[in-house]
Amino acid sequence: MSQLLAGKTAIVLGVANKWSIAYAIAEAYRREGARLILTYQGERLKATVEDLGKELGAALVLNCDVTKEEELAALVTAISGEKLDVIVHSIAFANREDLSRPFLETSRDGYLLAQEVSSYSLVSVSRALAPLMTEGGAILTLSYLGSVRVIPNYNVMGVAKAALEACVRYLASDLGARAIRVNAISAGPIKTASARGIKDFSKVLDGVAAISPLRRNTDPAEVADTAVFLASHLGRGVTGNVVYVDAGFQVMGLPTPD
Ligand code: NAP
Repeated sequence: MSQLLAGKTAIVLGVANKWSIAYAIAEAYRREGARLILTYQGERLKATVEDLGKELGAALVLNCDVTKEEELAALVTAISGEKLDVIVHSIAFANREDLSRPFLETSRDGYLLAQEVSSYSLVSVSRALAPLMTEGGAILTLSYLGSVRVIPNYNVMGVAKAALEACVRYLASDLGARAIRVNAISAGPIKTASARGIKDFSKVLDGVAAISPLRRNTDPAEVADTAVFLASHLGRGVTGNVVYVDAGFQVMGLPTPD
């Protein structure tokens, strides 16, 4: 099977570097024949993401900090002539101190910041870009098990991911009549720049490798292939879902005795 996304245009938000999950998704989308639009957040990442965009053959590489309504509006203007088929929202942020101290100590500002960047932005991005999906399409976001289970130090981000997954369900309901499907992929832990902000993240990786049914961690390419499925005709019956790509870790209660 090949070229599952031929003739489709996908916008991918959240490529920061080669280790980003969004980069793996963009690579897989290019492999499957999609036309790519990438976005980055601010001048700091411009040169890096433009270089990555060249490697990926992206048609456009544009700036968009999702917390700035004017930047979202400028993004819509910049691509207003496009027919979009796929939106990948691969964005999250929380203050580092909120990913290391007890959840009980979360500040109001830290809580609201995590929600704004990591959850509300799916709503604002979907509202802004869905009008360009004139022939229907697929919206994808990235979640994590910390939404439904307590994962040490994931804290405020777990609460944001719980809200994100609820947003997926409500958006799926709102946009289904326009043939737009909305889903989340709940990825297993992967070493990325964001993940490095979580205290003791390497212990989480070790735990998953030891306990998960597949006895290993998640490869970003596996997440990307599921993102291809969800964006393609093959995923046409799936919406409002959270699909786990985590080596099966989420089904385990206690470790299997050796
Ligand atoms: P990443 O490479 O650091 O990607 C996170 C992206 O979010 C970066 O490009 C970051 O840009 C961007 N971002 C943050 N604030 C933004 C804003 N205001 N406007 C626009 N972009 C903004 O890390 P990642 O692990 O691939 O994360 C991608 C998604 O996967 C996140 O939703 C994350 O929660 C989720 N996820 C990750 C894992 C994991 O273990 N890595 C597991 C499950 C789910 P800057 O670099 O400029 O901040």
